[in-house]
Amino acid sequence: MSDETSADTNPEARAIREIRINPIVPSESVLVATARNMRPRKAEEPAPRDTRKHVETCPFCRGNEDQTPPEIDVYPKEDAADWQIRIVENLYPVLGDDSSQPGFVYGLQQAIDGYGRHEVIIDNPQHGISIHEMEVEHISNLFHVYQQRMQQLYQLDDRLKYVLVFKNFGPAAGASMAHTHSQIIATPVVPQNVFDEVQNSRQYFERHHQCIFCSLIDEALTFEAKIYDRSSGEIVRRIDVGQYVVERGEKFIAIKPFASRYEWEIHILPLQHSSDFMTTSKADLDDFAKVLQRTMARLEAVIGGAQYNFFLHSVPQGDEFQNCGQSYHWHLEICPRTSIPNGFELGSGLFVNTISPELAAEQLRAVQL
Ligand code: AMP
Ligand code: ZN
Ligand code: ZN
Repeated sequence: MSDETSADTNPEARAIREIRINPIVPSESVLVATARNMRPRKAEEPAPRDTRKHVETCPFCRGNEDQTPPEIDVYPKEDAADWQIRIVENLYPVLGDDSSQPGFVYGLQQAIDGYGRHEVIIDNPQHGISIHEMEVEHISNLFHVYQQRMQQLYQLDDRLKYVLVFKNFGPAAGASMAHTHSQIIATPVVPQNVFDEVQNSRQYFERHHQCIFCSLIDEALTFEAKIYDRSSGEIVRRIDVGQYVVERGEKFIAIKPFASRYEWEIHILPLQHSSDFMTTSKADLDDFAKVLQRTMARLEAVIGGAQYNFFLHSVPQGDEFQNCGQSYHWHLEICPRTSIPNGFELGSGLFVNTISPELAAEQLRAVQL
């Protein structure tokens, strides 16, 4: 380790090989292994960018509205033919309301009826536009449309326990359609990883009377520490959690988690505590949209053509979660997919990250926008 002692000021010089524990969901921990001699994992190619504005054969392009199932909503409503955002039913839904089989339990085998909703949100009439190229106002409207549809779905049917909004961009992120789009899947159960976040943050609140996400933001903004060697008194490690801030707006912050599962993973959270995305005001969404657009522009500048998923985590509705208002903190997780998970990751549940999150944050922050 002797070659690493002077490296506290230069993160590049210090090879990290450590398991970082996710403070909210410890089971989602990460092996950060940046050693230079580590065999690189197979990297995903950048997504072949389809920058065409209009594609005659694309069912999501304007003019081809008859190639999708019925329209659920459109924005702006006043001028449907000139739509900017369009919600349609998914042609191949993974969950639907037509299933008639009841759930069952047989021994240890348990099945819950696959009841739910699966909808597609056509983000933008322009076929190949990326988030960082969209107007801030458009992104704000898009998230407003998400809010409204989430609200409608929760109100429509109390069998729907969670409404997940997500986006797949690029084949490595699971996207089968090139036209920019996002999706909503409403499920009859709260997904386990949302439940774990909600439950663990509730327990943290019971013990510490504080929202763990708020504490993480505070740390990201202010926390600095030096770890000294006991005998020599030399600095062996400098922890500057503030270095994980990627972008800051007036109301929102984009941070690179200390235990990032994906090399370029970034989370965006409201700076003021708020558990429920649906209650965020339009003015605040404007700031959110700015932070998201700038964050995506940073990603574009650093890794170019990222294939990614993003998804919204907001407090689930329902009596069971009534008391989570102070403990849960909504956020958007952006997960660029730069490598394919391997057998170790599947077998261990431990994600391997080969770029130190502090270095990744530094590179993202250094981009001149
Ligand atoms: P992704 O696979 O993430 O790109 O999402 C595209 C979604 O669009 C998939 O879930 C498809 O089932 C759905 N889809 C494909 N073609 C159509 C169509 N013509 N109308 C509505 N949904 C479609
Ligand atoms: Zn298209
Ligand atoms: Zn909070």
